[in-house]
Amino acid sequence: MRLEDYQPYSFELESTDLTFDIRADHTDVESTTSFRRKNDEQNELELDGIDLELLSIAIDNRPLTSNEYSVDSTKLSIVDLPERFKLTIQTRIYPQANTALEGLYRSGDLYCTQCEAEGFRKITYYPDRPDVQSKFTTTLVADSGQFGVMLANGNLIRDEITSDNRRRVTWVDPFNKPSYLFALVAGNLAVLEDNFTTLSGRNIALRIYSEPHNIDACTHAMESLKRAMAWDESAFGREYDLDTFMIVAVEDFNMGAMENKGLNIFNTSCVLASPSTATDAAYLRVEGVVAHEYFHNWSGNRVTCRDWFQLSLKEGFTVFRDSEFSAAMNSRNVKRIQDVDVLRTAQFAEDASPLAHPVRPTSYIEISNFYTTTIYEKGAEVVRMLSTMLGQDNFRSATDLYFDRHDGGAATTEDFVVAMEDVSGVNLDRFRNWYSQAGTPVIEVEESRINDLITLHLKQSCPPSPNQPSKSTFHIPISIGLISIDGQDALGQAGAANGFDIHVHTDLNFENPNADGTLAFHFDCEETTITISGVPPKSVVSFLRGFSAPVNVTFPRSNTDLLHLATLDTDGFVRWDAAQKILGSTITTPASDTQFAKALLQKLSRSAVSAADDGETKALLASAMTLPSTLYVLDQNPGRDVIELDGGRDRLLSEMGIALEDSWEEIVNQNISDSPYHADGISIARRSLSHLAMDYLGAGLEKRGPGTAWDLYYDLYRRCDNLTDRLFAFSRLLRLEASLAEKKSVVIQDFHDRFNASALVTDKWFSVQAGCKVSGTLPRIVELATHPEFDLQNPNRARALLSTFATVNHREFHRSDGKSYTFLADQILKLDSLNPQLASRVCIPLTRWQRFDSGRQERMKDSLERIQRDCQSKDLREVTQKSLVA
Ligand SMILES: [Zn+2]
Repeated sequence: MRLEDYQPYSFELESTDLTFDIRADHTDVESTTSFRRKNDEQNELELDGIDLELLSIAIDNRPLTSNEYSVDSTKLSIVDLPERFKLTIQTRIYPQANTALEGLYRSGDLYCTQCEAEGFRKITYYPDRPDVQSKFTTTLVADSGQFGVMLANGNLIRDEITSDNRRRVTWVDPFNKPSYLFALVAGNLAVLEDNFTTLSGRNIALRIYSEPHNIDACTHAMESLKRAMAWDESAFGREYDLDTFMIVAVEDFNMGAMENKGLNIFNTSCVLASPSTATDAAYLRVEGVVAHEYFHNWSGNRVTCRDWFQLSLKEGFTVFRDSEFSAAMNSRNVKRIQDVDVLRTAQFAEDASPLAHPVRPTSYIEISNFYTTTIYEKGAEVVRMLSTMLGQDNFRSATDLYFDRHDGGAATTEDFVVAMEDVSGVNLDRFRNWYSQAGTPVIEVEESRINDLITLHLKQSCPPSPNQPSKSTFHIPISIGLISIDGQDALGQAGAANGFDIHVHTDLNFENPNADGTLAFHFDCEETTITISGVPPKSVVSFLRGFSAPVNVTFPRSNTDLLHLATLDTDGFVRWDAAQKILGSTITTPASDTQFAKALLQKLSRSAVSAADDGETKALLASAMTLPSTLYVLDQNPGRDVIELDGGRDRLLSEMGIALEDSWEEIVNQNISDSPYHADGISIARRSLSHLAMDYLGAGLEKRGPGTAWDLYYDLYRRCDNLTDRLFAFSRLLRLEASLAEKKSVVIQDFHDRFNASALVTDKWFSVQAGCKVSGTLPRIVELATHPEFDLQNPNRARALLSTFATVNHREFHRSDGKSYTFLADQILKLDSLNPQLASRVCIPLTRWQRFDSGRQERMKDSLERIQRDCQSKDLREVTQKSLVA
């Protein structure tokens, strides 16, 4: 599929009526759609359809004979059509045999749908493209008494028992929508009900459905939904439009959740939250995903995408919206650091790989492969840069204009940028390169200093990507501050208020939007110079504040300057980033001097001991003291031995554990709590700080002799009342020395039996073992893949074992004999015949081979070649082909 081949559809759809007759071993679908031809020349109707049994087809109630239409494995075509006509098609489908989880399928006893991106064509023949919209009426018919709950988009208008003792319900959605937003659910579900009054005083019924034994775990999702509805009104002026809003929790689901109009369908992992079955991270994730899907009602549903090349129009914008919401509800600094961490490890790696693609791709083979961190996370960064450059008020006016202009329509990323330009007058010509060019730009900074004059020389470049050997200049917003010796923000109005007399000279446009000591520059040329005069002695430049652009920065600086920033900068991101740099460089040089790492952790741990009991401060300190991930360190040093780097990380952890033992102990004692579990900001921050300190402490204790670290973790495991603590302790216990094998197997059994009723906790039981980075664990992973509770057909379970193993357990996954790669490839090929979409996702870690040393590269490519040779789906074929080209 190519962006340049886009053609508007030749017909308009006036209405779509669907009837689903659900039987034990099949479902019959009757669709009646009213078409109107838009121009006289185009007189061939093409409908998408895959894996359908065509029972009958009629135009204006006249059945067609087989020579009046043609049908192949993906399309149905009809020619010689009147200007207006009503097309009725009957198809038969088999939801219980649908293991790909696209279209209508069964999850346990529940029937549900997943239509984005191209699942609707597995339900009936239809123009399955986002720019074709219609009003849908949906009728579900099943044996009465079979399903307590039968739902579809919109409002319920009829619920009756027919003469042949079947239940028949009809839902009408008054809004036009594309087929990918269609949804239905039928099952025996419990419901949690609540309501919300909108800004204009309308009362909305809110319903969350789940299996009866999980309904108590839905209250956090309901509270999150109400907060999201209120926030979207105040932050973006967006009000909900239907009378009811429904969420259904489903166990077998390929993605996180889906924003179907008025009837969101969620993976249970993104709805359910109770203290004993969900971690702090899961609580935050539920809040974020509930908000994300709700926000789509405007950024996605009311204004949808013209074609799938524009996917980031709805996803990038909505991720930006949900991340602003989470920042407002929790800690803004910590949310930003977490987002940047994900971006730099996952998206930057994608950008540097043969699978790199622009935020608005120009071609694809299988659209499911494009639900990537580039479309989502980098897409959100692009929107964030626009909001930074326009400032809060202009950005809000521009989003208002965008929603007004395109309400009810299908738009492009270009439409979004034009709305930003029209409101602000900022020229965004070069900014558009963020949408069309793949790859992570690099900014090289050179600083020179003479007396009170600092000169910063900036140069931008971007490495080549597939089909893009050279790149045009990007328009990059760069936020800069200056931290004085006593930690004051010295730039701009904030600096003037502190008595500093500083002047900035450059050819770039710049402004001080928040008057908080941060200057925002428009860096839209290849090279430039910024000079700052009147600089107070020993001040340090704070660069790329708030991570103002998704770029790699090379800025040679002394550890003294980094230490200054890591402990004194008022910008949370720069503090964390400076700390990561000190700790990262200590990890990569094995015999290195640990003096700066120690000085840093000493200062930060002392701050943590004396910190006020405030969530924001404690959470930020916990982030700043966390060692950078092995993969991040590897990406900064491509080609290095991953196991050696992982070992370097562990060594630094134990060395600092011993050197600062008293501080860690004090932090643990201060922050560990015996009061009942709460998922509020301060409690979450205390737990993350105490876990961090226990990590250092335990690593130090391990060096003292067997058994000492066991007690530290086992004590927490035994007495805690929540999954966050228990899972942390469980995972640390399993990493301890081999001589504790017997004790470990007792804990493994205990954890298993304790929560066996919860599928989500059983997922964790698999993932902790899969992620347990101890050499020689492959046989256990293989054993788990044949465990009676392992199920490749359940995406959560498959990801818990396979994706965790491949992305977390560096030591065993990257063993030098390549046996783990072979194991993963075997599993991927098995999965391919069941669920191609999922198989292609699980394959991603292998496609990141470029970051590893040459021996591992060869073995990873061997496995990719085997997958390419033996796979059946176009999903896997595209991913393996592209990743092997480079
Ligand atoms: Zn989304």
